[in-house]
Amino acid sequence: MNINDNIESLKGVGSKRQSYLHKLNIYTIKDLINHYPIRYINKTKICSVKNATHGENITIKGKVINIVNRKNYKRKSLITVLLKDKIGDNFEAVFFNPKYVVNRLKIDEVYYFFGKIENRKMIHPDFINEKSQNVDEFLRITPVYPLTNGLMQWHLLKMINNLLKELNIDDYESLIDDIVKRNNLCSYGYAIRNIHFPNDKEAYKVAKYRLIFEEFFNIQLRLILLKNNFEEEEGIKFQMKDMVNNFVDNLSFKLTGAQSRVLEEIFNDMQKKKVMNRIIQGDVGSGKTVIAMAALYLSYLNGYQGAFMAPTELLAIQHYNSFISYFDGRGVNVRCLTSSIKNKEQIYKEIENDAVDIVIGTHALLQDKVKFNNLGLIITDEQHRFGVRQREKLSKKSNTKPDVLVMSATPIPRTLSMVIHGDLDISVIDELPVGRKEISTHYIKKNKKNEMYDFIRKNINEGRQAYFVCPLVEDSEKLDLLSVEKYYYELNEVVFKEFNVEMIHGKLKNNEKDEIMSRFKNGEVDILVSTTVIEVGIDVTNANIMVIENAERFGLSQLHQLRGRVGRGSFQSYCFLLADKLGKISKERIKIMTETNDGFRISEKDLELRGPGDILGIRQSGIIEFKIANIIKNNDILVQTQKEIKFLINEYKSGENKEIIEFVNNVSKGIFKGYKI
Ligand code: ADP
Ligand code: MG
Repeated sequence: MNINDNIESLKGVGSKRQSYLHKLNIYTIKDLINHYPIRYINKTKICSVKNATHGENITIKGKVINIVNRKNYKRKSLITVLLKDKIGDNFEAVFFNPKYVVNRLKIDEVYYFFGKIENRKMIHPDFINEKSQNVDEFLRITPVYPLTNGLMQWHLLKMINNLLKELNIDDYESLIDDIVKRNNLCSYGYAIRNIHFPNDKEAYKVAKYRLIFEEFFNIQLRLILLKNNFEEEEGIKFQMKDMVNNFVDNLSFKLTGAQSRVLEEIFNDMQKKKVMNRIIQGDVGSGKTVIAMAALYLSYLNGYQGAFMAPTELLAIQHYNSFISYFDGRGVNVRCLTSSIKNKEQIYKEIENDAVDIVIGTHALLQDKVKFNNLGLIITDEQHRFGVRQREKLSKKSNTKPDVLVMSATPIPRTLSMVIHGDLDISVIDELPVGRKEISTHYIKKNKKNEMYDFIRKNINEGRQAYFVCPLVEDSEKLDLLSVEKYYYELNEVVFKEFNVEMIHGKLKNNEKDEIMSRFKNGEVDILVSTTVIEVGIDVTNANIMVIENAERFGLSQLHQLRGRVGRGSFQSYCFLLADKLGKISKERIKIMTETNDGFRISEKDLELRGPGDILGIRQSGIIEFKIANIIKNNDILVQTQKEIKFLINEYKSGENKEIIEFVNNVSKGIFKGYKI
């Protein structure tokens, strides 16, 4: 029997059983072994009747004194077994199924009974004769497995129990001795045996630790090997150009230290032959766009084309406009490509003929008709909206091997980044431009709305602008939520009659959206009522107020993103979160929003509240969900695996330890001693 065999090779697993197992994603013997218990029942503790805890599952050893078969008032059989425990106290076991019991229980013999005891009675307990060969299996810590319809607990229990007897699990140690010893791990065999049938609590802990370690270790090591691709993929070697410095020096602001450092990291990568795969993480407003511009400019100066992909049309157009103005007089030919743009065919042709230097667009860039002549650099903005595959698709649109830069405003702790973005090098912009003030954030109840309106009125009279965001476009009768349309009406006709109020939402045509946005940008519009179309990237420095209606409907990252639309200039900015009935989680979200502006803290909290599975991008980036590890709870083990991997890679590079070299080479092929992961 081999761990990679299909489950159909197991005895007693017919096609029906197989189909149930498939539903649990169990196809091979290894999958079955990796189907870990969700909890355990401890049958090892043997109590006497006197000190048994009322209502709790326990084991009692008892001698059968008498068996009474009688009918209850519904004339159904009821078997009452009279028992005596070791000390001599009496108790009863009651069964409803005489056939099941009668032949298996004998007077004067001693049995172990497992079940709940109440008033000295155990209803339908499990039991086993003390002389049975299987007593050890009965009296152990017993696993409880996740199930699916049709599959019973005892099916899985029996299958896994038999499997662990037949399969020589110790043959499948996946890690070399060195790693096991350095990290104080137990062996693979011990871990598997004890995760299913722990000898005791301590053994369970040791087993679980090893399996979590292994899960983190395997995934990260493989990602790192993928990224480093030790046979280095040959890409473009860009030359550094003075004009890039000229561009940076001529900006209307000085780059922050973090921006300069990250730009340096990017330029270093670009000057290497190896293909760049880098992610920039920077909180909202940290100034990622200008970094993208400088990198694209370098690519242009080297004679290559560049592509910049944004998640929404609004954002693509905004970027396009700022590129045009920042590159003014530098001879860069910039185009915008979105699905609603008119002269697309013309633009396709220009891209293919190298008449366009930089193209900024949405998903429309991914269309087959888009073919580049000599693409040098690809940048995707707010990457969690794009998957790895889409990035790859763009890379293949040219005969060149373009460098890739990803920009993300979802800051996550570095240890997590290694798991989630393990295939990318990471740069962090951990500093906001000087002069930015904390956005003062407040939770507003309905009865305080008028005070808030007065405050906003005062700000607008001082020349500022405001956003109002709400979740829906049209009124919903079912949910008691405010729609953009209703809100717009109320603000425009009633509350802020004296101001210019406009509304923007996804159902508007693009030219209508553009027109409103550009009037907001140049200050003709005082108040913009909007759905979340403005969530990402929109940049209007004069706006200093963000009102979020039905704030309980938004997730933490989304609230943080929305709030990030203000606080971009030097004015004190405000965010007002409106909500009435708050649940427990929305209360926590709003609390953390009012406490901090720090994107890292917010994303940590978000991870905690929602769990890692939902965090943007994990699923998309194609990383499997963990079977036993939890990237939040087991952060200490995660850190330990990262240390181990760093050590291994260094050893590997030094080329001295043959065992390590062989091990790493195998892992890069997905082989862990005798089986594939
Ligand atoms: P994000 O990282 O959220 O994409 P942006 O690139 O949109 O941020 O930048 C936010 C605003 O800050 C823009 O108006 C931009 O021009 C400005 N900005 C960027 N870098 C600096 C800086 N070093 N000093 C002052 N303002 C800056
Ligand atoms: Mg941005």
